[in-house]
Amino acid sequence: MSSASGGCDGSLRYVRRVTSSDATAPHPPVPALELPPTADGFTAQFLRNLNFDGGVTLADASTNDRYLALARTVRDYLMLHALADQQRQAGAQAKAVCYLSAEYLLGNQLDNDLLAGDLAGVAADAMAACGIDLDELRRHEIEPGLGNGGLGRLAACFIDSLATLGVPSIGYGIRYEYGIFRQTFEDGQQVEQPDAWLTLGAPWEQPRPEAAQTVSFGGRTETVDDAGTVRSRWIPEWNVSAVPYDYLVPGFRNGRVNTLRLWRAKATDAFDLRIFNSGDYEQAVRAQTFAENISKVLYPEDSTPQGKELRLQQQYFFVAASIRDFLGRLPEDFDLARLPERVIFQLNDTHPVIAVPELMRVLVDEHGMAWDEAWAVTQQCFAYTCHTLLPEALEVWPVELLGRLLPRHLEIVYRINEEFLAAVRARFGDDEMRIRDMSIIAEFPVRAVRMAYLATVAGSRVNGVAELHSQLLRDKVLPAFAEFFPEKFTNVTNGVTPRRFLRLANPGLSTLITDAIGDGWVTDLERLHELEPLAEDAAFRAAFAAVKAGNKRRLNEVLQARDGMRVGDGHLVDVMVKRLHEYKRQLLKVLHVVSEYEGVVSGRIALADLQPRTVLFGAKAAPGYAMAKRIIHLINAVGSVVNTDPRLDGRLQVLFPPNYNVTLAESVIPAADLSEQISLAGKEASGTGNMKFALNGALTIGTDDGANVEIRELVGDANFFLFGMTEPEVAEIAQAGYHPAAFYQEDAGLRRAIDLIASGAFSGGDRSVFEPVVSNLLYEDRFMVLADYSAYMAAQQRVDAAYADQDGWTRAAILNVARCGFFSSDRSIRDYIDRIWHTPPTT
Ligand SMILES: *Cc1c(COP(=O)(O)O)cnc(C)c1O
Repeated sequence: MSSASGGCDGSLRYVRRVTSSDATAPHPPVPALELPPTADGFTAQFLRNLNFDGGVTLADASTNDRYLALARTVRDYLMLHALADQQRQAGAQAKAVCYLSAEYLLGNQLDNDLLAGDLAGVAADAMAACGIDLDELRRHEIEPGLGNGGLGRLAACFIDSLATLGVPSIGYGIRYEYGIFRQTFEDGQQVEQPDAWLTLGAPWEQPRPEAAQTVSFGGRTETVDDAGTVRSRWIPEWNVSAVPYDYLVPGFRNGRVNTLRLWRAKATDAFDLRIFNSGDYEQAVRAQTFAENISKVLYPEDSTPQGKELRLQQQYFFVAASIRDFLGRLPEDFDLARLPERVIFQLNDTHPVIAVPELMRVLVDEHGMAWDEAWAVTQQCFAYTCHTLLPEALEVWPVELLGRLLPRHLEIVYRINEEFLAAVRARFGDDEMRIRDMSIIAEFPVRAVRMAYLATVAGSRVNGVAELHSQLLRDKVLPAFAEFFPEKFTNVTNGVTPRRFLRLANPGLSTLITDAIGDGWVTDLERLHELEPLAEDAAFRAAFAAVKAGNKRRLNEVLQARDGMRVGDGHLVDVMVKRLHEYKRQLLKVLHVVSEYEGVVSGRIALADLQPRTVLFGAKAAPGYAMAKRIIHLINAVGSVVNTDPRLDGRLQVLFPPNYNVTLAESVIPAADLSEQISLAGKEASGTGNMKFALNGALTIGTDDGANVEIRELVGDANFFLFGMTEPEVAEIAQAGYHPAAFYQEDAGLRRAIDLIASGAFSGGDRSVFEPVVSNLLYEDRFMVLADYSAYMAAQQRVDAAYADQDGWTRAAILNVARCGFFSSDRSIRDYIDRIWHTPPTT
């Protein structure tokens, strides 16, 4: 098993070679590590890290010590590439992509970096030589949950693809001390636990305190006469220090390593000391807490902005530090008029949009650039990705708050708006309706800055994240802007990285694919098309089915260990994992389960006719989102009744493992037969979970929404269970007035399901527990669950019928894999390059 011939006795036999005594002479990176790596070299470096970094011997090392040393060792090898990369790029004047995102949902780093650096083999050998169980160290890792869901995971997939494609780029974000909460259930209800991911050490990050930036807030502006030109100047009131923590982002086996730079807020020393010296220690501690709060917690919400001052502080904090950081990388004498040749700042949703007035301020106030020139530069340096269709999710900042926190930025926004509205008037005349419609400043209910409008006016491009979404952006969300700036609007359909979500998550399928078509698909996912003919090959189908069965066993091991749960033998594995939100319609899935349950207990469905199924949910609800939390409670309540009712004989199971995250996704998705993508048409911008499932050979039951549309077009109607209203149908019903109770009256099956919930059957007879859910469905049902219920039930019958033909199902699953290569985030990044960034071609 081990090729570590030297073995590993825990002693130290390795001395770092000294290369040069002339400190001023440039020297190549110290070749302390051999490339390509060997098990001996890896073992030696692991021991060095254990001894010198961890301060323990192998014999005394805890699991955490070993994990930290292993992580350090992997990072050391990647660092060799990173240093070489830096040397290659020094002096190169390539245009860089700065991806600005308030969230990065990274997932575990160890396996990702072992894969990208091609280190898995030597690491396994080295650990074996040291008598260490590598799997135990894998399980020890805590993923950095620095994002809520799809948006943050997209950013993580994109930085992976940027590195793999060799695009010069930096990801910028926030190093939250507490990421997304850890979810537990008590009596079926969500309880949020703090996510203390940093407590046992953070081996993947490297603090760079010497590269700290100062970020200012508050105060006032004043005008000064600068040799005849009247200029505005910001006199801020308080500062915080932004300290960068760098993560290595390795490309897949290409020697490229990009940086993810996450900022941590710290009190500035000067501020601290002044108060300390005055003897007011409490005040000093308060000041420190105040400053450091900025990067303390990730806002645990998705799709609805909370108008919180701290949130705006977070946004400005990270973009101000990032812009300064990037400009600091340019040569001293760089002509900022040429900035667009060197950078594009991609705004991941509206969270970083305050970067627009910040860049204007830096150019005009700090560098003395004329306003018009600065505006021309700024417009070329930004592009904006919109991620939503829900009007309530379009971020606005009250003018009162913005003016208090960032007075100069508010002035700049006003001037941008004035000039923009003048241009609108010049084109359309004094059409006051239109002016009010397009103003960056909303007047009601309070004066507020519409960040999506600001981004649209400032950005060189505005993109939606799936074809349907981009069309709805143009037609419904920003129609006046699409008319005014038709050339700005474009689409880039989202994607997911095939490295993490296929190669790592599904080793069985990866091997099967590689055996069939070679391993080029890992970086060229369209090659999965070569699998198509194999759908007709009985031996391949059998092997494919065996992989799926193996993945279900693997999932069961994970679920057993984690939650004491297991998927039923021979069950159709029916999965709905994603943030809990009413628009995603977990309730529709619950109604299906309740209907099946009711059917069996009432005798309408013979038990023998019930396709054995395990319905697996995973979902976190934002802590302040009461309805979402009630729906979680309902899912658990239905599960505990259905799972234990002897009349069902275990043929219908509902599992809801808590704390859905990237790590759990990697176990669940490869085991799924059926992927639930059942949002109300016109509400899901794209979805990326849908792509992960299809690529892993699950069939989708879905509405014509988001990227489902493109998935269905690619895999074909015969390999996709489409149901429900289309977006125009939804719009029509909404226009005419939607009456959910009518559906309840007309559909006996729906009535029985809702009545059963209302009766208290899932709440120990207490009718009040789920009354708010029931009355919401009957009298409001904003996302038209009841209108799509019968179509969904019919589609589920088609699923059952299709699953009865196992061989046919497997054929369809293979075709899903073969036809979904389009959904690689590598393709998304190429689209960004072609349509938006115009960075040089990649190798
Ligand atoms: C992919 C992913 C998501 C996004 O899922 P959707 O179904 O597109 O909403 C959310 N959370 C995690 C952990 C993911 O991996």
